[in-house]
Amino acid sequence: DQPPVARSSPGGLDAPTASRRGVCLVISAPSGAGKSTIANALRAADPLLRHSVSVTTRQPRPGETEGVHYYFRTREQFDRMAETGELLEWANVFGRGYGTPRAPVEAALASGRDMVFDIDWQGHRQLRAALPGDVVSLFVLPPSLEVLEARLRSRASDDPAEIAHRMAAARDEISHWEEFDHVIVNDRLDRAIGDARAVLVAARIARARQTGMAALVRSFG
Ligand code: 5GP
Repeated sequence: DQPPVARSSPGGLDAPTASRRGVCLVISAPSGAGKSTIANALRAADPLLRHSVSVTTRQPRPGETEGVHYYFRTREQFDRMAETGELLEWANVFGRGYGTPRAPVEAALASGRDMVFDIDWQGHRQLRAALPGDVVSLFVLPPSLEVLEARLRSRASDDPAEIAHRMAAARDEISHWEEFDHVIVNDRLDRAIGDARAVLVAARIARARQTGMAALVRSFG
């Protein structure tokens, strides 16, 4: 007989498995703190980690692709998705709608795949309520507001009015940092990525998530 579960390390999963429910890793931060870079690095090192592609009513920025960075929708389409329950959570950020499509998340979790979410504090609150026990969250702080503003300015795609707006929004986002399980300061990107990876691995190996483990231990006799 094969042992029912024989993975050596769920921290380095070789394949998704239905005997273990996936983890929702929420990464929130003010714009410019580096959360997308951190999330991209996690996924690059871990092909099984899926990015939850959000729906938004904002315009695509240069280089953004439909279905990869976002699903770009009109306000009418977005509102309809929210009304019909197609969104697991949704919020208005900078006056535009942002939301998480429900179906891909539910399918991923049930098949043991982990997902990373780049959503704001409002999305984090709703996701925790919608998926109790499935969410682990990380808040990324910039080393200072000056560093944050400099990073926003270096993004050519955002105009000055947008930058001022985002700085105000950054203070608001930061005011929710205490709602998160983990918090890091992104002063050195390599360390921030390592710390984010540690959060993901710890969530994966949490006893409560490893429903297949009991069968393995029983097989020991
Ligand atoms: P950006 O327009 O810069 O891509 O994103 C703006 C903000 O919207 C970011 O703080 C990002 O985390 C947040 N956001 C992106 N997608 C979602 C989503 O699906 N739900 C929520 N609640 N926030 C989102």
